[in-house]
Amino acid sequence: MIKLHDKLFKPYLSETQILEAVQKMADNIAVDYKDETPIFVGVLNGSFMFVADFLKAYQHPCEVSFVKLSSYQGLTSTGIVETLLDVSEDIEGRSVIILEDIIDTGRTLQQLVNLFSNTNVKEFKIASLFHKPEIYNGEYLIDYVGLEIADCFIVGYGLDYNELGRNLREVYQLNQTNMINLVL
Ligand code: 5GP
Repeated sequence: MIKLHDKLFKPYLSETQILEAVQKMADNIAVDYKDETPIFVGVLNGSFMFVADFLKAYQHPCEVSFVKLSSYQGLTSTGIVETLLDVSEDIEGRSVIILEDIIDTGRTLQQLVNLFSNTNVKEFKIASLFHKPEIYNGEYLIDYVGLEIADCFIVGYGLDYNELGRNLREVYQLNQTNMINLVL
Protein backbone atom coordinates (compact mmCIF):
# COMPACT_ATOMS: atom_id res chain seq x y z
CA MET A 1 0.00 0.00 0.00
CA ILE A 2 1.24 3.53 -0.76
CA LYS A 3 -0.05 6.93 0.40
CA LEU A 4 -0.35 9.88 -1.99
CA HIS A 5 -1.65 13.07 -0.39
CA ASP A 6 -4.64 11.90 1.71
CA LYS A 7 -5.37 8.62 -0.11
CA LEU A 8 -4.14 5.04 0.06
CA PHE A 9 -3.48 3.05 -3.11
CA LYS A 10 -2.95 -0.72 -3.43
CA PRO A 11 -0.91 -2.61 -6.07
CA TYR A 12 -2.95 -3.33 -9.22
CA LEU A 13 -0.73 -4.02 -12.28
CA SER A 14 2.92 -5.06 -12.22
CA GLU A 15 5.60 -3.52 -14.41
CA THR A 16 5.83 -6.84 -16.30
CA GLN A 17 2.08 -6.90 -17.05
CA ILE A 18 2.24 -3.31 -18.32
CA LEU A 19 5.34 -3.82 -20.48
CA GLU A 20 3.88 -7.01 -22.00
CA ALA A 21 0.74 -5.08 -22.98
CA VAL A 22 2.84 -2.24 -24.44
CA GLN A 23 4.90 -4.73 -26.50
CA LYS A 24 1.73 -6.40 -27.81
CA MET A 25 0.31 -3.04 -28.89
CA ALA A 26 3.58 -2.13 -30.65
CA ASP A 27 3.64 -5.50 -32.42
CA ASN A 28 0.03 -5.16 -33.62
CA ILE A 29 0.56 -1.61 -34.86
CA ALA A 30 3.82 -2.60 -36.58
CA VAL A 31 1.95 -5.24 -38.58
CA ASP A 32 -0.74 -2.74 -39.63
CA TYR A 33 1.78 -0.02 -40.59
CA LYS A 34 4.58 -2.12 -42.05
CA ASP A 35 4.61 -0.10 -45.31
CA GLU A 36 4.33 3.36 -43.72
CA THR A 37 6.04 5.82 -41.41
CA PRO A 38 3.23 6.78 -39.02
CA ILE A 39 3.27 9.78 -36.68
CA PHE A 40 2.60 8.83 -33.06
CA VAL A 41 1.03 11.63 -31.04
CA GLY A 42 1.33 11.25 -27.26
CA VAL A 43 -1.27 12.93 -25.05
CA LEU A 44 0.48 14.75 -22.21
CA ASN A 45 0.99 14.58 -19.31
CA GLY A 46 -0.14 11.05 -18.51
CA SER A 47 1.21 9.27 -21.59
CA PHE A 48 4.90 10.21 -21.31
CA MET A 49 6.01 6.89 -19.79
CA PHE A 50 3.81 4.84 -22.11
CA VAL A 51 5.12 6.72 -25.17
CA ALA A 52 8.75 6.14 -24.14
CA ASP A 53 8.25 2.39 -23.62
CA PHE A 54 6.03 2.10 -26.69
CA LEU A 55 8.68 3.67 -28.94
CA LYS A 56 11.35 1.36 -27.51
CA ALA A 57 9.04 -1.56 -28.36
CA TYR A 58 8.25 -0.18 -31.85
CA GLN A 59 11.51 -0.60 -33.73
CA HIS A 60 10.30 0.54 -37.16
CA PRO A 61 10.37 3.93 -38.94
CA CYS A 62 8.06 6.42 -37.20
CA GLU A 63 7.83 10.02 -35.97
CA VAL A 64 6.62 11.29 -32.59
CA SER A 65 4.88 14.41 -31.35
CA PHE A 66 2.75 15.46 -28.36
CA VAL A 67 -0.46 17.32 -27.52
CA LYS A 68 -1.47 18.46 -24.07
CA LEU A 69 -5.05 17.99 -22.86
CA SER A 70 -6.60 17.90 -19.43
CA SER A 71 -9.99 16.92 -18.00
CA TYR A 72 -9.20 15.58 -14.53
CA GLN A 73 -8.86 17.37 -11.22
CA GLY A 74 -8.12 15.12 -8.26
CA LEU A 75 -10.15 11.94 -8.63
CA THR A 76 -12.90 13.06 -11.00
CA SER A 77 -13.19 14.21 -14.57
CA THR A 78 -14.18 17.89 -14.71
CA GLY A 79 -15.73 17.44 -18.12
CA ILE A 80 -13.75 20.43 -19.37
CA VAL A 81 -11.23 19.30 -21.90
CA GLU A 82 -8.66 21.90 -22.75
CA THR A 83 -6.26 21.69 -25.68
CA LEU A 84 -3.01 23.32 -24.66
CA LEU A 85 -0.79 22.49 -27.58
CA ASP A 86 -1.36 21.52 -31.18
CA VAL A 87 0.66 19.07 -33.22
CA SER A 88 3.33 21.06 -35.03
CA GLU A 89 4.49 18.50 -37.62
CA ASP A 90 3.15 18.55 -41.14
CA ILE A 91 0.53 15.85 -40.78
CA GLU A 92 -1.24 16.30 -44.12
CA GLY A 93 -1.61 12.97 -45.91
CA ARG A 94 0.05 11.11 -43.03
CA SER A 95 -1.23 8.34 -40.77
CA VAL A 96 -1.61 9.64 -37.22
CA ILE A 97 -1.87 7.29 -34.26
CA ILE A 98 -2.79 8.89 -30.93
CA LEU A 99 -1.10 7.35 -27.90
CA GLU A 100 -3.38 7.84 -24.88
CA ASP A 101 -2.57 6.69 -21.35
CA ILE A 102 -6.17 5.97 -20.37
CA ILE A 103 -9.68 6.38 -21.74
CA ASP A 104 -12.59 6.33 -19.30
CA THR A 105 -15.65 8.49 -20.17
CA GLY A 106 -14.30 9.19 -23.65
CA ARG A 107 -14.59 13.00 -23.40
CA THR A 108 -10.89 13.56 -24.03
CA LEU A 109 -11.01 11.13 -26.92
CA GLN A 110 -13.88 13.08 -28.51
CA GLN A 111 -11.81 16.26 -28.22
CA LEU A 112 -8.97 14.56 -30.03
CA VAL A 113 -11.28 13.25 -32.74
CA ASN A 114 -12.59 16.83 -33.22
CA LEU A 115 -9.05 18.21 -33.28
CA PHE A 116 -7.94 15.86 -36.05
CA SER A 117 -11.19 15.82 -38.05
CA ASN A 118 -10.33 19.34 -39.26
CA THR A 119 -7.01 18.19 -40.69
CA ASN A 120 -6.19 16.37 -43.92
CA VAL A 121 -4.57 13.35 -42.34
CA LYS A 122 -4.63 10.14 -44.34
CA GLU A 123 -5.81 8.08 -41.41
CA PHE A 124 -6.45 8.70 -37.73
CA LYS A 125 -6.29 5.91 -35.13
CA ILE A 126 -6.42 5.76 -31.33
CA ALA A 127 -4.24 3.52 -29.16
CA SER A 128 -4.89 3.59 -25.42
CA LEU A 129 -2.82 1.69 -22.90
CA PHE A 130 -5.66 1.50 -20.36
CA HIS A 131 -9.38 1.51 -21.04
CA LYS A 132 -12.37 1.42 -18.67
CA PRO A 133 -15.09 -0.17 -20.87
CA GLU A 134 -17.71 -0.05 -18.07
CA ILE A 135 -17.88 3.76 -18.08
CA TYR A 136 -16.93 4.52 -21.66
CA ASN A 137 -19.86 6.21 -23.36
CA GLY A 138 -18.20 7.51 -26.50
CA GLU A 139 -19.17 6.54 -30.03
CA TYR A 140 -15.64 6.10 -31.35
CA LEU A 141 -14.46 2.50 -31.51
CA ILE A 142 -10.99 2.50 -29.92
CA ASP A 143 -8.53 0.98 -32.40
CA TYR A 144 -5.86 -0.46 -30.07
CA VAL A 145 -6.26 -1.17 -26.33
CA GLY A 146 -3.45 -2.40 -24.07
CA LEU A 147 -5.37 -3.44 -20.95
CA GLU A 148 -9.05 -3.22 -20.12
CA ILE A 149 -9.45 -2.29 -16.46
CA ALA A 150 -12.28 -2.03 -13.94
CA ASP A 151 -13.98 1.27 -13.13
CA CYS A 152 -11.46 2.34 -10.50
CA PHE A 153 -9.08 5.27 -10.10
CA ILE A 154 -5.49 4.29 -10.84
CA VAL A 155 -2.10 5.98 -10.44
CA GLY A 156 1.43 5.19 -11.56
CA TYR A 157 3.18 4.66 -14.89
CA GLY A 158 2.58 8.30 -15.85
CA LEU A 159 -0.84 8.65 -14.20
CA ASP A 160 -1.16 10.95 -11.20
CA TYR A 161 -3.31 11.78 -8.23
CA ASN A 162 -3.00 15.56 -7.94
CA GLU A 163 0.43 15.36 -9.62
CA LEU A 164 1.82 12.62 -7.35
CA GLY A 165 2.50 9.05 -8.46
CA ARG A 166 3.50 9.63 -12.09
CA ASN A 167 7.00 8.20 -11.49
CA LEU A 168 5.78 4.84 -10.13
CA ARG A 169 6.84 1.92 -12.34
CA GLU A 170 3.71 -0.11 -11.48
CA VAL A 171 0.03 0.85 -11.42
CA TYR A 172 -1.85 1.24 -8.13
CA GLN A 173 -5.59 1.35 -7.54
CA LEU A 174 -7.41 3.62 -5.10
CA ASN A 175 -8.11 1.64 -1.94
CA GLN A 176 -11.91 1.85 -1.73
CA THR A 177 -11.97 1.31 2.05
CA ASN A 178 -10.55 4.79 2.57
CA MET A 179 -13.68 6.06 0.77
CA ILE A 180 -15.79 4.31 3.45
CA ASN A 181 -13.62 5.84 6.18
CA LEU A 182 -14.29 9.25 4.69
CA VAL A 183 -18.06 8.68 4.70
CA LEU A 184 -18.16 7.38 8.31
P1 5GP B 1 -11.93 10.87 -20.14
O1 5GP B 1 -11.93 12.16 -20.90
O2 5GP B 1 -11.93 9.64 -21.01
O3 5GP B 1 -13.01 10.84 -19.10
O4 5GP B 1 -10.61 10.85 -19.28
C1 5GP B 1 -9.39 10.73 -19.86
C2 5GP B 1 -8.32 11.42 -19.07
O5 5GP B 1 -8.66 11.49 -17.68
C3 5GP B 1 -7.04 10.64 -19.17
O6 5GP B 1 -6.23 11.11 -20.21
C4 5GP B 1 -6.42 10.83 -17.78
O7 5GP B 1 -5.63 12.00 -17.78
C5 5GP B 1 -7.60 11.04 -16.86
N1 5GP B 1 -8.02 9.80 -16.17
C6 5GP B 1 -9.06 8.99 -16.47
N2 5GP B 1 -9.12 7.94 -15.63
C7 5GP B 1 -8.08 8.08 -14.77
C8 5GP B 1 -7.59 7.28 -13.68
O8 5GP B 1 -8.10 6.22 -13.30
N3 5GP B 1 -6.48 7.76 -13.05
C9 5GP B 1 -5.86 8.91 -13.41
N4 5GP B 1 -4.78 9.25 -12.72
N5 5GP B 1 -6.29 9.68 -14.45
C10 5GP B 1 -7.38 9.26 -15.11
